[in-house]
Amino acid sequence: MLSYRHSFHAGNHADVLKHTVQSLIIESLKEKDKPFLYLDTHAGAGRYQLSGEHAERTGEYLEGIARIWQRDDIPEELAAYMSVVGHFNRNENLRYYPGSPLIARQLLREEDKLQLTELHPSDFPLLRSEFQKDDRTRVSRADGYQQLKAQLPPLSRRGFILMDPPYELKTDYQDVVKGIQEGYKRFATGTYALWYPVVMRQQIKKMLRDLEATGIRRILQIELGVRPDSDQRGMTASGMIVINPPWKLEQQMKNVLPWLLKVLVPSGTGHTTVKWVVPE
Ligand code: SAM
Repeated sequence: MLSYRHSFHAGNHADVLKHTVQSLIIESLKEKDKPFLYLDTHAGAGRYQLSGEHAERTGEYLEGIARIWQRDDIPEELAAYMSVVGHFNRNENLRYYPGSPLIARQLLREEDKLQLTELHPSDFPLLRSEFQKDDRTRVSRADGYQQLKAQLPPLSRRGFILMDPPYELKTDYQDVVKGIQEGYKRFATGTYALWYPVVMRQQIKKMLRDLEATGIRRILQIELGVRPDSDQRGMTASGMIVINPPWKLEQQMKNVLPWLLKVLVPSGTGHTTVKWVVPE
């Protein structure tokens, strides 16, 4: 079952959080000369048209990227991310939203490598055509979880793995933990970032307990909520679990989250979290 299309959700508050964290990790990895692999297990289509039928139908980006686009008080932690959004929107209008593969493409260096996987029959060809002329990148129509076994450790021995499944299958909550375990067994020094939605808080609590039980250390949790937890349908918050985060990330997120909360959730119903699930 592959019914999820990211085009309905592109640029929403969850994407803003995810892509802020993604861009800060990439910028930190670039501080060393040595090249690295960027592995995106659930890559999506790459580019999303915000004036398109899907994005217009939900209007989610209006409460996400549209709220920060063109503000004149953007914190420096958002500079890399906003430079990529700006690259795809050269005039004043916000027309396109870059997904995680295009954010990586813009921020990575000539010597770095990208490995992207996507399974959806409509999104995979879109992703492939975005990268046709990029020699650094391999795009495969393959299962993202398998890549954690097949692609790790990277030849360069440096890597950033982004895992962003749709959670349309309940098994995703277990599969992400198994996938991280498989990856970590092969490549314990990599930086892993896992996105999660808070739909039912119990599912996230269980996922975190399962992660703790793996024995993996240095697990940082970053979360931005827009509404209090609820039993009703719908996502009330989203977060990123980062294993082996760059040393600056905790402080960078503590700096920028209050601003994001103020701008993205003007109603005042939200919350932010930056905490170690498992420390050093
Ligand atoms: N990471 C993207 C971004 O930030 O722009 C968005 C990805 S979207 C949340 C999740 C994607 O995973 C969907 O496009 C879906 O088709 C794809 N997908 C679902 N199951 C998959 C699997 N087992 N392996 C690879 N891709 C999968």
